[in-house]
Amino acid sequence: MISCEEKIKSEYVKQVLKQIEEKNSNEVEFIQAVKEVLMSLEPVIIKNEKKYKEAALLERLTEPERIISFRVPWVDDKGQVRVNRGYRVQFNASIGPYKGGLRFHPTVNQSIMKFLGFEQIFKNALTTRPIGGGKGGSDFDPKGKSDMEIMRFCQSFMTELQKYIGQDVDIPAGDIGVGAREIGFLFGQFRKIRNAYEAGVLTGKGLEYGGSLARKEATGYGLLYFMREMLNANNISLNGKTVIISGSGNVAIYACEKAQKLGANVVAMSDSNGSIYDKNGINVDVIKEIKEVKRGRIKDYLNYIPDAQYSENDSDIPSVYKIKADIVLPCATQNDINLKTAELLVKNGVIAVGEGANMPCTNEAVEYFLKNNVLLAPGKAANAGGVATSALEMSQNSMREYWSFEDVDKKLENIMISIFKQCKNADEEYNLGTNYVAGANIAAFEKVSEAMISQGII
Ligand code: NDP
Repeated sequence: MISCEEKIKSEYVKQVLKQIEEKNSNEVEFIQAVKEVLMSLEPVIIKNEKKYKEAALLERLTEPERIISFRVPWVDDKGQVRVNRGYRVQFNASIGPYKGGLRFHPTVNQSIMKFLGFEQIFKNALTTRPIGGGKGGSDFDPKGKSDMEIMRFCQSFMTELQKYIGQDVDIPAGDIGVGAREIGFLFGQFRKIRNAYEAGVLTGKGLEYGGSLARKEATGYGLLYFMREMLNANNISLNGKTVIISGSGNVAIYACEKAQKLGANVVAMSDSNGSIYDKNGINVDVIKEIKEVKRGRIKDYLNYIPDAQYSENDSDIPSVYKIKADIVLPCATQNDINLKTAELLVKNGVIAVGEGANMPCTNEAVEYFLKNNVLLAPGKAANAGGVATSALEMSQNSMREYWSFEDVDKKLENIMISIFKQCKNADEEYNLGTNYVAGANIAAFEKVSEAMISQGII
């Protein structure tokens, strides 16, 4: 099999990738994300190679405008002092203020922050809203912590972060491990320190203090709107299809809910320990109770639905992916689907994969799916509904208005339809052969690169 690198035709892309690998040799996820994007941009880059090279466009696009890393000291319930590391990567603000979530998870490091920030530039460009790309978080593990510990950590984190953010500067939101509870504590501390009610500084806020209806549902719902559009464009109906979903967090829950509303049968979901299979269709209210209220484990599903089956993860293929399905929605974390898992899914007859998570498929898995004519909805486009609705939250904050659930949901649906169209148009224009991964990258790049060139060498 020819390696990905051997397929690169543009000398400029080759040279930039080499530099990035040398300069960031220990940042595996970041290199992976950049490689996937730059390789898929080749048709555009080859057309304008001289212009981009003169402006060092790819070098600038892949170097964050700023990386902030800071100490987060906090005191646990036993009175012990703990120290975590906080980050904010302000990657690219050429089309609007930096915007992107905060992730609290023990695996967080600079490579993961940079890959997420880099992807966010393209995702945000596709939303058609004026927002640039950023990401942040900490290696703090919220699992098993009391509410008071979470609060003290969030307060310490915000005490430092507030120096670098603002509603016209950088607007964080949630991501893995950061939901409504954490956003509330973060906003409270920001407001106390700044002595101003700048509601637009964070999104994903509670409805009582500037949040938007449908923000909680937006990423999962948006994923399904994109999936429906993609299937329809290929003369396939979502109705009646069997679906499996990895993860059982914010994105996974609302992807499940919307898939069911659109007539699909979701039979499996998971967490990092294992998966549940319910042949009668997952009861999403039970999942909400376990995960949103009790903060429990997915296997607790059996306490409510004893007929369901639970499988612990026991090999390098997560158990959820061993269940046959027409449609697979990875909604947990990065690199969840490697080549081996992709091979199994194709063998089991998968028609379409929709990336609810960021970079859930390795580059080899993506290539394998495309080669086997699996329709692939790339995360940058398919999970952009969350950030798009965050932008709608910012609009409501600026206008000092609240829109109804139906209004926001309709706007979200229209945005997702427009995002799919951008991917499809680029796919057709560049003759990519039903490759929405490259389509999404190209459509976003065309916008960001023009903005960067117009603003000079900065
Ligand atoms: P949550 O924290 O709500 O849920 C994360 C889910 O993924 C949990 O079920 C968790 O299981 C599972 N998970 C996390 N890490 C791992 C791992 N290493 N291996 C296996 N499972 C894991 O996060 P979200 O639902 O918000 O985010 C999920 C994905 O979607 C992420 O990739 C995020 O970047 C992306 N995303 C989120 C958006 C949003 O609006 N929230 C917007 C766009 C993308 P466990 O409880 O066992 O850890």
